[in-house]
Amino acid sequence: MRLEELGKAASFVVKGKSAVIVTDKNVEKLYLERCTETLEKEGFKINTFVVEPGEESKSGKTYLELLNFLAEIPLTRTDFLVALGGGVVGDLAGFAAATYLRGIDVIQVPTTLLAAVDSSIGGKTAINLEAGKNLAGAFHQPVLVWQDSSLLDSLSEEIFKDGMAEVIKYGVLQDQELFCALKDPEWTKENIDKVIEKCVSIKKSYVEEDEFDKGKRQLLNLGHTIGHAMEKATDYGVSHGSAVAKGMLSIARISRKQGWCDERTENEIKEILERYKFDVEITQAPEVLYDMMLSDKKRKGSDIDLVVPYEIGKCALKRISIEELKELL
Ligand code: MG
Repeated sequence: MRLEELGKAASFVVKGKSAVIVTDKNVEKLYLERCTETLEKEGFKINTFVVEPGEESKSGKTYLELLNFLAEIPLTRTDFLVALGGGVVGDLAGFAAATYLRGIDVIQVPTTLLAAVDSSIGGKTAINLEAGKNLAGAFHQPVLVWQDSSLLDSLSEEIFKDGMAEVIKYGVLQDQELFCALKDPEWTKENIDKVIEKCVSIKKSYVEEDEFDKGKRQLLNLGHTIGHAMEKATDYGVSHGSAVAKGMLSIARISRKQGWCDERTENEIKEILERYKFDVEITQAPEVLYDMMLSDKKRKGSDIDLVVPYEIGKCALKRISIEELKELL
């Protein structure tokens, strides 16, 4: 689907005539004009809110600035937001849409691989708090996710790699065939549409079964518990993908030590991450990670649910005590 068709598609799903495109300074240069044009062509009145690239923009401060911007226009109940960008923009705009006037429509237009395969779908929106990542948020499904994979061509190797961590996650989680195909990075590049489609369909199946994250959907957090701790410990100096990659390997290591998976599974995960040039060494002290994990959303009192690989394509939720986790780390 081409970005140029977005306006037409939007006119079928929204009622209002006014929209705000939320984007960041990098994406602004690349795609804002095309995005504005297609919407204006269908008669939508467009305003734009541009944030700094990076995790910093998922802050309470930027969130309130955005809400005030919407209120000043003012955007009404039937109007909508367009999140044009990666995970940060999608989460911020999504949460603003979830809460502004108690909820308005949002259209997600992912421009990174990570957003395409993960954050733009499923309706989880959030901003970060001092105490941790994604601690304030809401479930708010987009009315439309517009996927134009040619937008991903502009991605740097680094940003592409970031999304690959989530792609590999889907393989480890439930698709051995995908996992095997991904072992060849060239194949992945050449078949990126197929890969995105596969990942989206896997995520969709989890979300459909458990939209509000009470059960099965939590499996999508594979690698994220330790990953989020790492992001926080480095003050988001480690990218989300790199943190998830490290998190996935450390949980595989824990799983192997506990006898839940064999050494081959751990090695396969390590090897594939190395093929995509992830640095899988963990430099933070276990105590630091442990402290960070205490504020994790997945914590339930004195227990925490970890997603543990059994073999490639098969994972399960394991509830362990915080004390036990400290030992394992
Ligand atoms: Mg993620």
